[in-house]
Amino acid sequence: AKSWVMVKHFDGFPKDSDFQLKVEELPEPKDGEVLLEAVFLSVDPYMRPFSRLHMKEGDVMIGTQVAKVTQSKNPAFPVGSHVVSHCGWRSHSVSDGADLIPIMADWPSDVSLSLALGTIGMPGLTALYGIEEVLGLQKNETLLVNAAAGAVGNVVGQIAKIKGCKVVGSAGSDAKVAYLRELGFDEAFNYKTVPSLEEALKKAAPEGYDCLFENVGGYFSTVALPQMKTFGRIAVCGSISTYNDGTPQTGPYPHFTMIVKQLKMEGFTQNRWQHKNPESLKRMMAWLKEGKLKCREHVTKGFENMPAAFMGLLRGDNIGKAVVAV
Ligand code: NDP
Repeated sequence: AKSWVMVKHFDGFPKDSDFQLKVEELPEPKDGEVLLEAVFLSVDPYMRPFSRLHMKEGDVMIGTQVAKVTQSKNPAFPVGSHVVSHCGWRSHSVSDGADLIPIMADWPSDVSLSLALGTIGMPGLTALYGIEEVLGLQKNETLLVNAAAGAVGNVVGQIAKIKGCKVVGSAGSDAKVAYLRELGFDEAFNYKTVPSLEEALKKAAPEGYDCLFENVGGYFSTVALPQMKTFGRIAVCGSISTYNDGTPQTGPYPHFTMIVKQLKMEGFTQNRWQHKNPESLKRMMAWLKEGKLKCREHVTKGFENMPAAFMGLLRGDNIGKAVVAV
């Protein structure tokens, strides 16, 4: 069995030398246990800040995967079935089943299981709960989402379109912007090449924004908040522009704008509504089958390329969900 260990805490942007591939023999599964083989592994932005909060040097990198049960002494997980496992960056693992989530029953055979790490998984749920539970997005409202071509962002935009809203997205390359238009975003722009972010936001929605689905933070927030309408709502989902910063974030931050525009801002993590996951995943699978929700993935091949896939994600290489196929 192979695993990727974080040998050194990341200092700024992660480097190859922060990771090490470890090879070990796994014990035979005991009664109640299963042996899992990774099929698809997820790389996600949260791994960067969470490595500081929840890991020590020498730990296996945290993360989720779709795995196949290859040996089973647990009747709940028969050989050949697939599960979502939180065992981290491991090619194989032994589990007693407690941390395993079976893949949704009736998963259509023509839908890749990798989507259980993306649109029909945690990032898709994040988009759905941010929109429905945090923002309470209503028909005909105008929504802005950043990192819009990413795993969460693209689903945010598509769900907002399903709900009859005007959607504006920003992303970091022209190819990503073209993809957003393909998905039906009303307006999209490349935040790296527009002469002025403020002007781009104004031009895309001269009427202002009712809702902001915030994935990026930092400078983007500073500029976007004054473009909100009075009583605008902001779902703070992520802050990726700050994850590699060594220093705590300081201003400028448009605090006063919050007051004069009477804005409402709420941070959230998707696991707050996990009791709703089975029903939510079914709903999103139905949208997918009806063609209302499109999926794109950025697939890196080979377990040995986990660090490269992770660093590529932080650099913005991905359109859609970044996954590694073993
Ligand atoms: P993405 O697929 O969107 O990948 C990350 C993207 O972020 C990159 O492709 C890049 O796109 C963009 N990015 C990277 N660095 C910067 C930067 N300095 N400034 C602006 N954009 C940057 O990842 P996810 O969809 O998985 O995650 C999106 C956000 O949602 C993250 O902040 C993540 O932490 C958060 N999240 C929160 C959850 C929650 O429960 N609260 C759950 C899941 C995700 P580009 O080319 O456009 O710059």
